[in-house]
Amino acid sequence: MGARLLDGQKVAAQMQAEIGPEVARYIARVGQAPGLAIVLVGNDPASEVYVRSKVRTGQAAGFRVDLERLPADASLDHVLQTVARLNGDDRYDGILVQSPLPAPLGRTAEQQVFDAIAVSKDVDGFSPASVGLLVQNRAPIAAGTPSGVMALLAREGIAVAGRHAVVVGRSDIVGKPMALLLLHQHATVTICHSKSTDLSGLCRQADILVAAAGRPGLITADFVKPGAVVVDVGINRITDRDEALRILGPSHPRFRVYEEKGSVLVGDVHPGVAEVAGALTPVPGGVGPLTIAMLMRNTMTAALARHPA
Ligand code: NAD
Repeated sequence: MGARLLDGQKVAAQMQAEIGPEVARYIARVGQAPGLAIVLVGNDPASEVYVRSKVRTGQAAGFRVDLERLPADASLDHVLQTVARLNGDDRYDGILVQSPLPAPLGRTAEQQVFDAIAVSKDVDGFSPASVGLLVQNRAPIAAGTPSGVMALLAREGIAVAGRHAVVVGRSDIVGKPMALLLLHQHATVTICHSKSTDLSGLCRQADILVAAAGRPGLITADFVKPGAVVVDVGINRITDRDEALRILGPSHPRFRVYEEKGSVLVGDVHPGVAEVAGALTPVPGGVGPLTIAMLMRNTMTAALARHPA
């Protein structure tokens, strides 16, 4: 394995250690902890895991983190009323509605709910006002996952200015804000998506390649310029043994995880990329922990904006 491992877990732990004293100072000054309300509708198993981790990480750093659970059959009105109530609740500086919402709420539900979060409390950075500010490079808060990737690149000393960054994926929560953040750090940015032609050729131009397609093992070694920095945002749960075997191979330690548990998490980047890339984030333990660290940073930013020193 040639690529340097970009340890997101380690960087997230550093960020967590830094924010603890800031939270303590804030509490001493303001008289209440910076507060985050998380709304979880239904009980999607992956969302349960993410939410538990957000609550645990936030509370460990001294934040107030409260979970509002709504039943899977909650109406859209119920969700919107919950957000409206949290908007007006002074205990909370940040509001996060865990995505995805249950499918029966309809295709536009998520956007309607994100639209309803007060921009001053929008710690996910998904509201149209937050996105507009991001486009103009004056957003105090941007989406956690791409912000986490930027923090990782900065802390690992990876230069961005003037380099060619290729982002695979154009979602509102990862691909687009990722491309904008890289652009604001003066990268030349290409965005690829499911209709792009010659994906491998486009990716091979990248000095920094960010994979956020949600397609297990999509980015194989022939997509990667030797020495490139490869960031794997994908988190895909594989339950099919043949697929796990095809992507990981029989001797990969992650394949043993599959054999033990009957499922395994893999990224969008094929393990063979480690032979070609200069640096690579693992899955798990790469971008995931950074997303949560950035959520806490964003909550702190929102709290400080509401209670300036
Ligand atoms: P999404 O489904 O909303 O978007 C996927 C994007 O990838 C789309 O823009 C699509 O055009 C593109 N795409 C799909 N197939 C492609 C292909 N074959 N070639 C090129 N482009 C293709 O997904 P998302 O919400 O942006 O998430 C992407 C991945 O990142 C998922 O695996 C998700 O689980 C993961 N994720 C991780 C974190 C984290 O904290 N690490 C956070 C959010 C999302």
